[in-house]
Amino acid sequence: MTDAVVIGAGPAGLMAAEELAKSGLSVTVADAMPSVGRKFLMAGKSGLNITKAEPLDAFRAAYGTQLPPALASALDQFGPAEVVAWAEDLGQPVFTGSTGRVFPTAMKASPLLRAWLARLDGLGVQIETRWRWNGWQGQALIFETPTGVQKRTPQVTILAMGGASWARLGANGQWAAHMPDSVAPFQPANMGVVVNWSSHMTPHLGSPVKSVALNAGKQTSRGEFIISEKGIEGGGIYMMSRAIREGPQLTIDLKPDWPLEKVRAALNKPRGKASLSNHLRKVLKFTPAHTALLSEFGRPFPDDLASLVKALPITHQGPRPIDEAISTAGGLRFDALTDGFMMLDRPGVFCAGEMLDWEAPTGGYLITACLATGRLAGRSAAAYTCKTVSTSQPDI
Ligand SMILES: Cc1cc2nc3c(=O)[nH]c(=O)nc-3n(C[C@H](O)[C@H](O)[C@H](O)COP(=O)(O)OP(=O)(O)OC[C@H]3O[C@@H](n4cnc5c(N)ncnc54)[C@H](O)[C@@H]3O)c2cc1C
Repeated sequence: MTDAVVIGAGPAGLMAAEELAKSGLSVTVADAMPSVGRKFLMAGKSGLNITKAEPLDAFRAAYGTQLPPALASALDQFGPAEVVAWAEDLGQPVFTGSTGRVFPTAMKASPLLRAWLARLDGLGVQIETRWRWNGWQGQALIFETPTGVQKRTPQVTILAMGGASWARLGANGQWAAHMPDSVAPFQPANMGVVVNWSSHMTPHLGSPVKSVALNAGKQTSRGEFIISEKGIEGGGIYMMSRAIREGPQLTIDLKPDWPLEKVRAALNKPRGKASLSNHLRKVLKFTPAHTALLSEFGRPFPDDLASLVKALPITHQGPRPIDEAISTAGGLRFDALTDGFMMLDRPGVFCAGEMLDWEAPTGGYLITACLATGRLAGRSAAAYTCKTVSTSQPDI
């Protein structure tokens, strides 16, 4: 008999499993893939950014202006300081970069995951891989496994199956078909945009673009981006995900630290025989990539080039496909859940991680929220098992 089944062995599911096991319950973690934590390991390939060292108000603001109370409460209980303590407790010292991003010193996720799995093993957590959850039959969880269909009817279940991107790492969003009325449609978040470049851009593919600002509606970003073969990628554009999806014109300010008049005065300096690109290089310190973007999106140039430099409209063909996105918006809606992350229409079933309907930029916010919601869902589920023993009216 298993008291608790956790479905999904990413950071959210493993955190929930740890909380359940610590409270003395027997726990099975089931994952569809042949090994656990594949997206977590992938996140570590470019440096595992586990959280952001900043005041809690600023940290919470990264999740949007309408932070659901349950998510706010999870983050209040397990925010940046707790994530750091958690990693260090697993024998992984961390460092904080100049922008406040926090990384394990090892940079990778594998030592952290290894230590975490050893801890879970010590707590008696059983892990089943190649177990794909296929919905419910009555109260029973149905799994497709290498040895045929398995059914489990635990006291509590945690669903932590991730969002709907990078499906090859496990999170394919197919779980949503089992609770269609409770799910907001998935959308790409932290994604690049498609740009059909002209051949003039070929020499600039792969170039980083720094010291610019991206603007769309009220959203602004000072991060860098890369001119890629398929469009524009990187942290600066990821920050703009929500605004890009919602549709206001995306513009680049190629000289964000200078007011319009200063740009105009610089452009009006005598040019002599210099080409426009040399003039831009001299008076505005433009790199070849800055000038190429100005030509690509700005031609034919208007008389007032300064205004264009300050707000160059980007003609793009929308987000890159959802499967390429670092994370996804949409998922299980908070109005379908209690403040303890229990499904209102399925008592005893709790949810955590990226499968919930929240989004945040890159910068450690994603993993922190997965850990925080996993922890709170695990604690709520453990409390629920106690209440179901002592009363028939749980209030989780
Ligand atoms: C390239 C890349 C880099 C990233 N870098 C960072 C970073 O540096 N910092 C950061 O904060 N975030 C980063 N992220 C995002 C972060 O990795 C995710 O937000 C996080 O892993 C989500 O955790 P989760 O536990 O909710 O889901 P996941 O980690 O996606 O885990 C879900 C698990 O559920 C399993 N599953 C799915 N469906 C089923 C089913 N039907 N039955 C059984 N099991 C199932 C999957 O196999 C998977 O193991 C990155 C993501 C990518 C793709």
